[in-house]
Amino acid sequence: MELAHQDITYLPGVGPKRAELLKKELKVSTALDLLYVFPYKYIDRSKFYKIRDIQDEDTYVQIIGVIRSYQTVGIGKAQRVSAEFFDGEDTIELVWFKGVQYLRLECNVQYLLFGKPSHFNHQYNIVHPELERLDKVNLQTRQGLEAHYNTSGEMKSSWLNSKALRRIIQSIMPALRQGVPETLGSDLIDKFRFMSLTDSLINIHCPKDIPSMQKARERLKFEELFYIQLQILRQVKLREQNAGGLLMPYVGNTFNDFYFHHLPFSLTNAQKRVIREIQADLKSGKQMNRLLQGDVGSGKTLVALMCALLAKDNGFQTCIMAPTEILANQHYQTLTAMLQGVDVNVRLLTGSTTAAQRRNLHTALQDGTVNILVGTHALIEDNVLFANLGLVIIDEQHRFGVAQRAKLWAKNVCPPHVLVMTATPIPRTLAMTIYGDLSVSVIDELPPGRKPVQTLHYTTLRRPAVYDFLRKQIELGRQAYIVYPLIEENKKMDLADLQHGFDEVCLTFPQYRVSMVHGKMKASEKDRQMRLFASGETQILVATTVIEVGVNVPNASIMIVENAERFGLSQLHQLRGRVGRGAEQSYCILLTKVELSKDTRKRMDIMVATNDGFRIAEADLQLRGPGDLEGTQQSGLPFELKIASLATDGQLLEIARRAAQDILSDDPLLQRPEHFIYRNRLQKLKPVGVDWGEIS
Ligand code: ADP
Ligand code: MG
Repeated sequence: MELAHQDITYLPGVGPKRAELLKKELKVSTALDLLYVFPYKYIDRSKFYKIRDIQDEDTYVQIIGVIRSYQTVGIGKAQRVSAEFFDGEDTIELVWFKGVQYLRLECNVQYLLFGKPSHFNHQYNIVHPELERLDKVNLQTRQGLEAHYNTSGEMKSSWLNSKALRRIIQSIMPALRQGVPETLGSDLIDKFRFMSLTDSLINIHCPKDIPSMQKARERLKFEELFYIQLQILRQVKLREQNAGGLLMPYVGNTFNDFYFHHLPFSLTNAQKRVIREIQADLKSGKQMNRLLQGDVGSGKTLVALMCALLAKDNGFQTCIMAPTEILANQHYQTLTAMLQGVDVNVRLLTGSTTAAQRRNLHTALQDGTVNILVGTHALIEDNVLFANLGLVIIDEQHRFGVAQRAKLWAKNVCPPHVLVMTATPIPRTLAMTIYGDLSVSVIDELPPGRKPVQTLHYTTLRRPAVYDFLRKQIELGRQAYIVYPLIEENKKMDLADLQHGFDEVCLTFPQYRVSMVHGKMKASEKDRQMRLFASGETQILVATTVIEVGVNVPNASIMIVENAERFGLSQLHQLRGRVGRGAEQSYCILLTKVELSKDTRKRMDIMVATNDGFRIAEADLQLRGPGDLEGTQQSGLPFELKIASLATDGQLLEIARRAAQDILSDDPLLQRPEHFIYRNRLQKLKPVGVDWGEIS
């Protein structure tokens, strides 16, 4: 029977209960599905160790020896067994805490031991080793690399651990050797000299040797990345064929009036280039889906504003959506200030807008008198209707989910143009994958006169010196942010920390006024505190990361990050971006505890070493892996990555992308017989989530 139709229930060692569990935990129901559960590591079982050669905690070892003695200590739950294992020359302690009552040990019988040493009381021991009587082991079949699999806690408690899973998967091997249908075309296989699918699946689970395992991994990784690219790029083609775009060919009076008479400074070359790119999209007759990347402070808001004016001159409304109320307020204020004396009607809609204000606003939106609507996600509520929405601008896009964005599209018969702006630079590999269907514009230049922020890392032991420095800066007329981490799981303690920090700052600097902002405050109070700081009435703002994105107070030149070890790189970079917005030299001071993990130290070093957002994003991807990157989960890949890694397989990804492009370039619908294989496979893979053709 074909493996694709073979129910796992009937595999040896499975049965209905375990099949249910496997379905739930690993989403597998056929033998073929199981073959796509890949090992996360291999252990070389051809190597035997002597006890005295152990010098590492994390490497598995295999030792032949005997148990010389053992004893049970403690009672009840605290019971454990300790044994002395002897390899003919040295001894090591073996320890069991769990399943003690099932343990059957025999003294002076040769065992094959397998386990991971740990360091305890200045010597090594091995906790919960596997022991097999040497006379029952066929060493011949044990040679080579042994695959190890990740299993969930629930699986382990039903004895479905890595070893059990390996046995089940091994039982499929004889059938697998008969062959499974190939999933890559023979031209690709020949061109890149890939291993066949059958051989790859065999060698990923039972590698003949290390090179075969590597070849298998390469082929399986390629395949994964290739189908993601094929899916995304095909959606682009389909959209290009189907979706018409609103036509906005004119550069009219409002735009020109603003540009020639109201713009307070000249645009940077990067801003000019990006506006031209967007303009070209707006008059192309195709729907724009553009990602605007620009490091913090590069002047994205102004670009947004000028695009909104273009839309207005062509008879369309624009909405600008921000992730927080603070930011929406700030945009609203910036825009109204800049547009003073220009014939444009800008309005604000947030969660704090009253019912009466809303009614009035809804009417003005529907009769077309509102040109630009700034707001939070309150904008996407169903009862917010536009007369003629033409352009949607999403700021700091990584905070918005795919589904939320899709709702905006529905607000006009013909989908509006979309510009997503982000200051979190997305590493190239990630952008190619997640935003493979977006056009990308980059503002790679800061407005003139900016001095790069100086970043310093201190431990809390140096707090007095940091406070001294802070005092001097404030005496020079500057303002400072002091930011505390706040995470939901640890909310109570984090808020207490923040309050404590606030009190300490007030006590240390009785001569200054201090504001405080955090996410749990009422919106009106948040707004009041922000205003006090923005207008310079308070000199210090103590806050949580609510100020992480977008906030713009040019006179603030110091950012102190408390517990900096608890922030990720992208977040730290965002926070740093709050200063360095005026002409003064700015400083970012990262305060951490004294003892730091290796990763944390690396993060701090990178922050101190560079201001380049792209380098930081790459480093973040390397350190944390893409799953943890803010926003990647909600943006989602069309298929889950099981073996390839966006952090480390960048090169393979580019090859896969080019291969997908080649195939689609003259057969976008995959209609040629030699491309059926790809179309069928895409159908089987069933992309998860929303249709990528309809959203950005
Ligand atoms: P971001 O890209 O982080 O959203 P903003 O749009 O908030 O950056 O701009 C940061 C600051 O730079 C604002 O005070 C803005 O007025 C100013 N700015 C924007 N463009 C220019 C420019 N071309 N020349 C001088 N200052 C500019
Ligand atoms: Mg911004």
